[in-house]
Amino acid sequence: MGFKAKARKNKVKTTTDGDQKKKSISGELPCAIKSCNRFADKRLGGRSLSFDDATEMWGSGNFLSTKGRVRVCKSCYRSWKKENKNDDMY
Ligand SMILES: [Zn+2]
Repeated sequence: MGFKAKARKNKVKTTTDGDQKKKSISGELPCAIKSCNRFADKRLGGRSLSFDDATEMWGSGNFLSTKGRVRVCKSCYRSWKKENKNDDMY
């Protein structure tokens, strides 16, 4: 019995292990203002305010402070800046 083996063409898909880069669009440091859920990373424009500044703006208990500093996101900083236009230094 002649049995011809059919050469099967198997399309082998090489699965390249895609090195998934951790693409973090969002930041790592959450904004200290409790009512805000943005990020205060430096590269995202986050700034840190003093405890007193933050208290004046948001009231004590409405933000978290770290060692006397309050890390806020860009937009919180801007709203604070608006309220505290005592100098035009940028
Ligand atoms: Zn914020």
